[in-house]
Amino acid sequence: MRDLARALTPQLVERVAALLAGADHVLIAAGAGMSADAGFDYTSEAQFVRRYPVLASRGPRCRYQLFGYAWPSDAVQWGHLARHLEELRFTPPPHGEPYEHLRAITQGKHRFVLTSNADDLFERSGFDARRIWTRQGSYARLQCLAPCSDASTWSAGPWVEAALPKVDLATEELTDPALVPRCPNCGGKVMLNVRGGDWFIDEPYRVQKGRFEAWFSQAQEGKLVILDVGTGFNTPSVIRWPAEALTLHHPGATLVRVNRQHPEVPAELEARSVTIGLAGAPLWAALAARG
Ligand SMILES: [Zn+2]
Repeated sequence: MRDLARALTPQLVERVAALLAGADHVLIAAGAGMSADAGFDYTSEAQFVRRYPVLASRGPRCRYQLFGYAWPSDAVQWGHLARHLEELRFTPPPHGEPYEHLRAITQGKHRFVLTSNADDLFERSGFDARRIWTRQGSYARLQCLAPCSDASTWSAGPWVEAALPKVDLATEELTDPALVPRCPNCGGKVMLNVRGGDWFIDEPYRVQKGRFEAWFSQAQEGKLVILDVGTGFNTPSVIRWPAEALTLHHPGATLVRVNRQHPEVPAELEARSVTIGLAGAPLWAALAARG
C-alpha cells in the first residue's frame, strides 16, 4: 500500500489538521481500538487477570474471551456482570483524554459518531447524544433474553447499584440470588442490551439510526472527513466496511483510517484516504495541541 504513515511526524499532523479545517462534516467511525485507548482493552490479559482473578482461574483470560462464555452459574455470571458494567459504563475510564481531544478538534463541525462500542464513552465525554449511533447496543441497558417484546429493555444502573454491594470479591459471585435480574415483563432470563445474538433488541437505538441516515443525507453537500479509528477485523461489517462504503458513496469524502494493525484501505479508496498505522490517542493529542 502506498502512503502509509507509521510515525507521528509534523507533516502528518498538518495534513490531518488541514483536512479537518476544510471539512464541513465529520463522521467519527470508532471501533474497539478507541475504547482500548481509553484503557478498556478487551484483549488485555494483564488488566483482566488483575481485576477478575477468580474468573481468570476458570479459563477466560481477557474480556474478549467472555463473548459466548458458558457461565457455570447465575451467581458467577451476574457477579461478574455487575462489576463489568461498573467498570466499563459507570466509572470514568482510566484515560479520558483521547475523547476530549477528539471532541475539541472536531468542535464546530456538522458532526456524528458511529460506534460499535457499548461503553457510551462518547456521550459520557460530552458528545451530543442525539448525534451518536451505538449500533451494537449499550451497557446502560439490560434486556429480556427471550426476548418477549421489543419493549423489554430497561436501565441497568439501578440494578448495578443494588448488586455491587452483594458481590463477594473473594469469590466474585453475587451472594443474593434475589438480585439475579429477571425480565419484568415475562420473568425470563436477562442479558446486557448489546448485540450478542439474534436475541438482541435494537429498538432503543432505532431513533439514532434514523438520525444518522438523515445526517448523512445532509452531509452529501460539501466536504466530509471520516475519521475511522480502531476498527479492525473482529466485526468489520459493523463500522469498518460501512465507513468505506460511505466514503465511496460521497464524492467529497476523505477517509482517515487510524489503526495500529490494519490501516489499509481498498484500492479504489486509496486516492481519497489517509492511512495511519498508529493508535489514535497521540494523533488526537497532537492535533488538539495545535489549538
Ligand atoms: Zn421478557
